[in-house]
Order: sequence, then C-alpha cells, then structure tokens
Amino acid sequence: MGTIFVYLMHQGGRLHDTARELLGAGLTLDPAAQVVALVAGDGPALDSACQEAAGLFPQVWKIAHPDLTQINAELLRPLLARLIPAGALTLLAHEHFGMDLAPGLAVKLDAAYLADAVALEGTRDGRLVAVRDILSGMVRTRVAVDLAGGLVATLRPGAFKAVEPAGSYGLVIDKSEDALAGGLPDLRRRYLQTVAAEAGDVDITKAEVLVSVGRGIEDEENLEIAFNLAKALGAEVSCSRPIVDAKWLEKARQVGTSGKTVRPKIYLACGISGSSQHLGGLQGASFVIAINKNAKAPIFQRADVGVVTDIIKFLPQLTEAVKGAR
Ligand code: FAD
Repeated sequence: MGTIFVYLMHQGGRLHDTARELLGAGLTLDPAAQVVALVAGDGPALDSACQEAAGLFPQVWKIAHPDLTQINAELLRPLLARLIPAGALTLLAHEHFGMDLAPGLAVKLDAAYLADAVALEGTRDGRLVAVRDILSGMVRTRVAVDLAGGLVATLRPGAFKAVEPAGSYGLVIDKSEDALAGGLPDLRRRYLQTVAAEAGDVDITKAEVLVSVGRGIEDEENLEIAFNLAKALGAEVSCSRPIVDAKWLEKARQVGTSGKTVRPKIYLACGISGSSQHLGGLQGASFVIAINKNAKAPIFQRADVGVVTDIIKFLPQLTEAVKGAR
C-alpha cells in the first residue's frame, strides 16, 4: 500500500486518543506501510503535538499557521489537498471535526469517501474491504471501495485497536510552505468560540472498568447499587439507552450506536439484553461480564463470563466481595 496518511487531532498540545487507533488501523491494513501523520495548528501546542506524534509515527508532516490555531475544515481542506498525493489512502477519526473535514477533502482529492468504518478487513483486487454499521447499527454491512483514485476514510473512535509508542522517534517535517503555497482560501465560516463541556461530565470512553446498567435495574432508586459497585471497583457507571430515555442517567453515559463507543478492559453489563445497537458501542471492550436473569439474553453471546441471576440481589453481594478482597 506504500504510504498511508492519517490526520491527527490535538488539543492543548496533546494528541487525541484516536491517533493511536488510526496508526493501529493503518498498520493492520498493511504492516509494511509507511504511515505519515499530518498535524496542523500553530505555536508551542502544535510543536508539542508533533513531538508526541513523532513518538508514534516514522514521519510527521507539520502544517503551521496562526489561522490554524482554531480548527476550521474549510481552511484546512485545500492545504491538505496540496500535500496528499493523488491516489493516496487517508484516514481520519469519525468524530466531529473528521466528519466535517473528510467528505470535502475526498472531493478535493478526487478520491473515494468511506464514512464511519468499524473495521478494515484488507484489500482485494485493488479494493479496500471495510465494515460499516447502517440503520443505527441494526444492520452491519461489508463494503468494497475502489482504491484506484485514492480514498479518504473516517474510522469510528474506539472501534480500532490503539498502538502504543514503539519508543523510537520519527521525523517532524515542516510542510507549511508547501501547504500554504497557493495562499489561504477565502473563508465563508469563521471561528467564534470554544464552548467547554459542562464540568463534572463523565467520560466513559476513557474508563478502564465500566459498570453498565440496563432496564434490568428496574427502578431509578436501584441505581445506587451500581454506583456502589463502581466505587468499590474504581469504575465509572454507564448504561443502555432506555436508562437515558427515562432520564435516570445523562446521555454522556450511554453506550451504543447512538451513544458512546467504549473500550474498557472490563465491561460489566448488568440487566442489559444485548441489542445490536448496544453491542455496536462495545466493540473495543476487552472482557465482558454479563449479569442477566434470562439465560437466553443475547448479551451472553458477546460475554466472556456470564452470570444468570437477579442483579438487584447480586450487585450488593458483589460489592461486598470486592470490598472484602481489597
Ligand atoms: P431490555 O432490552 O429491556 O433488556 C433488559 C434486560 O434486563 C433483559 O435481558 C432482562 O432479562 C434483564 N433483566 C430484567 N430484570 C433483571 C434483573 N432483576 N436482574 C438481571 N437481569 C434483569 N440502545 C442502547 O443501549 N444504546 C444505543 O446507542 C441505542 N441506540 C439505538 C438507536 C436506534 C435508532 C434504535 C431504534 C434503538 C437504539 N437503542 C440503543 C435501543 C436498543 O434497541 C434496545 O432497546 C436497548 O439497548 C435495550 O436496552 P436494555 O438492554 O437495557 O433493555
């Protein structure tokens, strides 16, 4: 495959977690490929992000300009299109900025566009075979995309295995001059302000252990037993969609295709049936423990360990056992 380009997001001088996932996806596709990171911004924050990227990627192409301090896809697209060669494969994370940047970038590069892939299965007859969820995760499709004219693909965060730094350092190459050679485009949109997420919001995507509750918790008051277990385990509490629909927990805790994709080391699914929409957010979980009173619940097909019991009785017992063991 030769060279694969990945566009990296960063904030406050730190790369987003998706950087390691994009590298992992590129190397899974072709272990011999040279994966080149594209990092845009300005000042010390950009330098710091490039340094971090150089700990992961053999080559980091830096694009610096004061107007790039605040990300703007309209501004960045033509600059990237001047750097990425025709016919190349470019990967981005399918988060807000990636979704904004990628389709127009594909148009500028005259490349194919693949959105929100959850797996890349390799190449066959000059085509990339990828897996996508459609109809909100109710159907999983396998698509083949022609690579002849190049491809811009966005990958779902959390769905790809992250690669840890190899310890060796890559080269940071300043490509600003080439990227800015044709000048900056006339913009029809401009940056106004950054609105920070509400303080106290949980980030279940970063949790190593999740105690996840579903409709089997039966009552809002019973949530306490899940929070007690989470506290004993040093875990966060997440949930299925009906719990959010009932307004028992906030949307930020919802796992699934219309919620968050999580990748904990341990996921305890408590009273969750295992719908395709819920499982769609679970692809990255390393070890799943399902607790459900119905032995035929579909979640047991995804689980590494299953416990057929009533969570209302079992979770407090488990909490005491965890506390005892500690
Ligand atoms: P249920 O399916 O009702 O399952 C409850 C489970 O609890 C059952 O298996 C039952 O046996 C068990 N149980 C009951 N009482 C106990 C007890 N005392 N002890 C032990 N077990 C017990 N869902 C999501 O989760 N995330 C999403 O992002 C999402 N997106 C969606 C998007 C669309 C477009 C649509 C149409 C649906 C979406 N859904 C999503 C909803 C999804 O289809 C399911 O309805 C939902 O996942 C079911 O949640 P649940 O497993 O908690 O509830």
